[in-house]
Amino acid sequence: MLGRWLAALCAMTWVMGAAGPAAAQDKVRVVATFSILADLARNVGGDAVDVTALVGPDSDAHAYSPSPADAKRLADAKVVLVNGLGFEGWIERLVKASGTKAAVVVASKGVKSRQMKDEDHGKSDPHAWQSVANAKIYVANIRDGLLKADPAGKAAYEANAAAYLAKLDALEAEVKATIAALPAARRKIITTHDAFGYFGAAYGMEFIAPQGVSTESEVSARDVAKIIRQIKAQKIPAVFMENVTDPRLMQRIADETGAKIGGKLYSDALSAPGGPAATYIDMMTNNLKEFRGALAS
Ligand SMILES: [Zn+2]
Repeated sequence: MLGRWLAALCAMTWVMGAAGPAAAQDKVRVVATFSILADLARNVGGDAVDVTALVGPDSDAHAYSPSPADAKRLADAKVVLVNGLGFEGWIERLVKASGTKAAVVVASKGVKSRQMKDEDHGKSDPHAWQSVANAKIYVANIRDGLLKADPAGKAAYEANAAAYLAKLDALEAEVKATIAALPAARRKIITTHDAFGYFGAAYGMEFIAPQGVSTESEVSARDVAKIIRQIKAQKIPAVFMENVTDPRLMQRIADETGAKIGGKLYSDALSAPGGPAATYIDMMTNNLKEFRGALAS
């Protein structure tokens, strides 16, 4: 009985395996450190890749603690995709511990990084994806990493990347036009952590954040008092929540200053599928809608 059942299962597996041109086991396994990179990789890899993210939707990659299961996933991967610029402080140890032979592709390679002021000891700002021009560099790096790891898929990766880059061009034009249409004096907002510096530099908007570039740093009462004074002095119109940070600090700042709460921004992670920011393009479009809603007069 068991023998027959096994034989049937084997036959079924064989049929399923033969049915599709790229069954799951034939696909190039790509592990991305976080959800935004995973989405970019799916757009470039298409049907040829099986992409998973270590840090999933609505989760904070700064403060992530990898599990033994993550090490196993790296060991089974052909390509490991990381942001770089110090974003994933935990990745180097995880790669070592996993013993993976995967190619490690740094998506931000070639990006002109934003250097933080002296209180951050000259650290790089890792949130380069918030500028669409940088996202295009990420896509080129992902394409080059995939075609090196899987030369047979070269033509498909190049075609997918070109099609997706055209979509990013359209997105970039929309972001520029939307921000340029906001009154210049109102292009100032508060977020919990400093995730939008590249966006601000690229499109002409000022972001002020009590927490600095990592969600791991503590916010002191002095920092909060300083921000409150700044909001009042500069008449900053809105404070924003983020999907990866605790909303209570922003709520308190809004209560004490009368600034309005401008909705939820997606900074370091996408939303779950079906949410308002399930892809990189949807994330940027969602944030743009929130900025326009709070800042257009
Ligand atoms: Zn961040």
